[in-house]
Amino acid sequence: MSELSKRVHQIMPSSTVGIADKAARLKLQGHKVIDLSAGRASEHTPEYICQAATNAIRSGDTHQTMARGKVEFRKACAIKLSRDNGITADPDSEIIATMGVKQGLTLALLATINPGDEVIIEDPCFVSYYPLITVAGGKGVPVPLKPENNFRWTQEQLLGAISEKTRAILFNSPHNPTGTVHSPEDLEMIARVAIENDLFVITDEVYEHVTWDGHQHTCLAGLPGMKERTISAMGLTKTFSMGGWRIGFAFAPERILKEMVKLQQHLLTCAGSFTQTGAAAAFENPPLPEVIKLWEKWDWRITMFIDGLNKIPGLKCKKPEGGFYGWVDISETGMTSQQMTDKLLDEAKVTVVPGASFGENGEGYIRVTCVKSREDLMEALSRIEDVLN
Ligand code: PMP
Repeated sequence: MSELSKRVHQIMPSSTVGIADKAARLKLQGHKVIDLSAGRASEHTPEYICQAATNAIRSGDTHQTMARGKVEFRKACAIKLSRDNGITADPDSEIIATMGVKQGLTLALLATINPGDEVIIEDPCFVSYYPLITVAGGKGVPVPLKPENNFRWTQEQLLGAISEKTRAILFNSPHNPTGTVHSPEDLEMIARVAIENDLFVITDEVYEHVTWDGHQHTCLAGLPGMKERTISAMGLTKTFSMGGWRIGFAFAPERILKEMVKLQQHLLTCAGSFTQTGAAAAFENPPLPEVIKLWEKWDWRITMFIDGLNKIPGLKCKKPEGGFYGWVDISETGMTSQQMTDKLLDEAKVTVVPGASFGENGEGYIRVTCVKSREDLMEALSRIEDVLN
């Protein structure tokens, strides 16, 4: 039999999606599993967004759109960028509809990376960055996020990671898994390094609306000198509970965006038509009271769950500045993150993600999703406590 591509051998399956699939299989077999692995909230998409998409289907909006997405959707994205991020974007030339943030990142990498180019990424980071960079022919260069630096890069670290092959920096804020939200000063440092070394920056802003306790998301592309070198991947997956819709968008300067459109023509033709209409309804107005209420509910649940985890001997966890994960320090238990994950699944039927799957610097941690129902979170706390006691 012929060998398959080197590409597929170089990448590992997604641990988060893999564990969530395993939890779903166990549930089908009748096990009472509580799934804290994948970043999926227990709530459904707000009704007004569903209504907009349903109306679109009923009115025959079931055909392919322009490769860059519908005018109506791109205009709504431009309104959102102006309102939420203080950025002026041309919906005709600087915005493309993508099938989720991951697809926006994929287009960004395919448009900017040549074989052998290096892309600086965080360690720990979202499990798909390394594989997506590899598939694009590049090499991910992980730069540690240390707890003593509050899970932020220092300028020395970033400069030390740059080589003549470095083409781009890819980072995520609010951050999965550590919960860091970059301040304007953090971003100014990244911008300075990018400008001085003539690098592209790809930003993953999928958690932008969910920040807590006064932390606020800032969009790097809005900083002086950054718009021309930044590709911002944005979406609704997490914050509007729209993971199954597979919709998002990317904002980039025209010279990059037009190449992303070319790739989109061949890869997907376009993002879904009625999903764009639903997403437009979410973006064209400020979040409605029901969405704000949802985010407030998540804030409360995250606080409650993390307080509960901190009462369990051996576990330590700070509340995230943004996003909806607990990044739980398990070092006192003496177990590796994989051992802890296996133990919680086998003995408590609770699924979590081992920190090591986010990178070398994730060892000693597990990641838990905190936006499940109150009942599931309480039950998970009680089961975890029983097992660890
Ligand atoms: N980026 C990060 C940091 C994520 O955590 C996730 C989902 N887990 C994604 C991107 C994927 O987003 P989407 O579903 O919109 O492709």
